[in-house]
Amino acid sequence: DSAINRIAAGEVVERPASAVKELVENAIDAGATRITVEVADGGKTLIRVSDDGCGITAEDLPLALARHATSKIDGSDLLNIHTFGFRGEALPSLGAVGRLTLTSRVPGETAAAIRVAGGRMDPVRPAALRAGTVAELRDLFYATPARLKFLRSDRSEMQAITDVVKRLAMAEPAIAFSLRDVSGEGEGREIFRADAETGDLFDALSGRLSTILGREFTENAIRIDASREGLRLFGLAALPTYSRGAAVAQFLFVNTRPVKDKMLHGALRAAYADVLARDRHPAAALFIDCDPELVDVNVHPAKSEVRFRDPGLARGLIVSALRHALAEGGH
Ligand code: ADP
Ligand code: MG
Repeated sequence: DSAINRIAAGEVVERPASAVKELVENAIDAGATRITVEVADGGKTLIRVSDDGCGITAEDLPLALARHATSKIDGSDLLNIHTFGFRGEALPSLGAVGRLTLTSRVPGETAAAIRVAGGRMDPVRPAALRAGTVAELRDLFYATPARLKFLRSDRSEMQAITDVVKRLAMAEPAIAFSLRDVSGEGEGREIFRADAETGDLFDALSGRLSTILGREFTENAIRIDASREGLRLFGLAALPTYSRGAAVAQFLFVNTRPVKDKMLHGALRAAYADVLARDRHPAAALFIDCDPELVDVNVHPAKSEVRFRDPGLARGLIVSALRHALAEGGH
């Protein structure tokens, strides 16, 4: 049974960056306004995510670590997923492939902590914490040395973690993010920081995107805002003159969740086809918001594909809204 759990866990947790993604998504779900990620040795020895969100009661701590016992989604609601997460799999999976400690405090109560390692849970104990939750994952894959061998250098695992944090931060401009490398002795080193943005949707988004992608991007991008049959598309798309030689500057989100999806990327390319040379790639950060019933974002826990009920509608919206905006924005 614990072998089955470990195999299932491997589906969710491929590398340190996938653990970071799950923990940061949980912090976002908890309503945090500030999320701090600390990482040592490319995440292999330590990943610590701290938030100031709603917290978990002492009573609920064991449930948070039990497979499918999540409070966020009940069985009747699998198609109606408003929040992140693969149906209560993340924390149990992390507790199966590493040593996970959750310390948490709900306002008005005392703090408590629970530890799970290699799938075995210790009893809840009292702890000290001012507010929110600290999830600390140590020694990822210590129980599965075969998987450890597949990890890349600390440097490239750190790069993957940075990408994950930046992508999540793009979709949450109102949340302050900080990513620190705490390998070795001392204070550690700040890898990435984004202060909370205020203002309306586009002001906040532009502020956040200029922190992450640079002013050059936001100053050479046009605002996209269009709706069609229950789908809303908004974001920033670069003018053709700001195009890039590499396809690394395309950030797509569905219901605030980062996705990498062939159909959506294809639509983006198609929208620019007439205005961009063949060897150039458009730069854009685009968000599709819709009723969760119209899209499945949980096709696979470790992949970020999506399945729209009407793929033609999503594609059509991207192509027409961008073409229109690019034609207008050119003048
Ligand atoms: P899911 O996110 O799909 O519900 P997880 O395994 O990621 O499943 O988390 C299990 C549960 O633990 C969550 O549903 C939530 O109730 C609780 N939880 C996890 N992380 C946090 C956090 N940072 N703050 C508050 N609650 C949390
Ligand atoms: Mg989750």
